[in-house]
Amino acid sequence: MAYLNENYLKLKAGYLFPEIARRVNAFCEKDPEGKARLIRCGIGDVTEALPPAVVDAMHKAVDEMASRDTFRGYGPEQGYLFLRQAIADNDFRAHDVEVDADEIFVSDGSKCDCGNILDILGHQNRIGIPDPVYPVYVDTNVMAGHTGTANDIGAYAGLHYLPGNAENGFVPDPPKEKLDVVYLCFPNNPTGAVATRKQLKAWVDYALANDTLLLFDAAYEAYIQNKEIPRSIYEIPGARRCAIEFRSFSKSGGFTGVRCAFIVVPKELQAKTPDGKTAPLHGLWARRMSTKFNGVSYIVQRAAEALYSHQGKEQVAALVAHYMGNAKILCEGARKAGLKVFGGENAPYIWVKTPQGLSSWQMFDKMLTEANVVITPGSGFGSAGEGYFRISAFNSRANAEEVARRIQALK
Ligand SMILES: *Cc1c(COP(=O)(O)O)cnc(C)c1O
Repeated sequence: MAYLNENYLKLKAGYLFPEIARRVNAFCEKDPEGKARLIRCGIGDVTEALPPAVVDAMHKAVDEMASRDTFRGYGPEQGYLFLRQAIADNDFRAHDVEVDADEIFVSDGSKCDCGNILDILGHQNRIGIPDPVYPVYVDTNVMAGHTGTANDIGAYAGLHYLPGNAENGFVPDPPKEKLDVVYLCFPNNPTGAVATRKQLKAWVDYALANDTLLLFDAAYEAYIQNKEIPRSIYEIPGARRCAIEFRSFSKSGGFTGVRCAFIVVPKELQAKTPDGKTAPLHGLWARRMSTKFNGVSYIVQRAAEALYSHQGKEQVAALVAHYMGNAKILCEGARKAGLKVFGGENAPYIWVKTPQGLSSWQMFDKMLTEANVVITPGSGFGSAGEGYFRISAFNSRANAEEVARRIQALK
């Protein structure tokens, strides 16, 4: 019999979203009326249709694939240059940020990229992970064997947790100790927190001083409203020597079901070998992609390119404005209900302190049974999320307004 990867056995059994689904299903069976009123603000998935510019580009690409003369087979593993150039020009060059098309690697999602990046990093790294945060960073490190087992609050031995809390505004400071790899996610899922230029500079300075690699997840960059907040880690001087940036079209262009994202690996970014030499990570990632990946579909890359057209940009801005309008309504509703609210200003997530000392799961059950609204318990994003819950602004306007009303009607 084959041996399995025993690291998977260390993963906490009740992963957040299956447990939410279990409780919601049980509730719906017991309470058909509640089921009919149910509004889901749980999973961070977009709800609105694809921008028309994207739909047109996809139709056109399908037609190209239908004709022998314009058909495309395997594309470049790194992504077509037309897309990488559009990304470099619009997301970086237009903001005076130096990122070359050669440094961009197109993929089928940031979730995959966040997990796959561990392929090119050593197993001996001391790894820092914010808490609360997107669970993928922790779980992929568990799977890769970088941790011991979890304790009863779900913290894994061997990981260095960087706690976010109301005092630090859910933006952890660089630690005293030296870490080799640190994950950062701004705007943050789940807290909606953003890091100021000063805070990001502190992280880049820490990374340069300690030879730390920053893994910067900017999946929600499109939601930043405040012009002073950096959109890319590369806006900070020196970041090209210490950071990989992850971007996704999932939340900006509504591509959660289309699947397209990219990472930036600057050419000058180095990591070390066990004998103390250094080598660029760019070549390792290029090698990894060409060995384990065969590129994103041509149709999808044309769809992503269309997000950078004049119309595409306007349509993305309208989508973001829609969700951020919901966020404002939800924030106001929760504040009027007397709740302590974070986030929601530069991110589509509202992060709320549970009232009366309720635990995150107690609040989940209360919202489910009394308001018939599905939220996400903060503790599912790490032990520092206990005592909070997340409301997603990904919804119709009517649902956002109804959720705001129901929160205020809660006893
Ligand atoms: C949604 C999300 C992503 C994007 O994932 P995809 O696989 O590109 O859909 C990445 N990071 C965070 C923190 C997210 O919430």
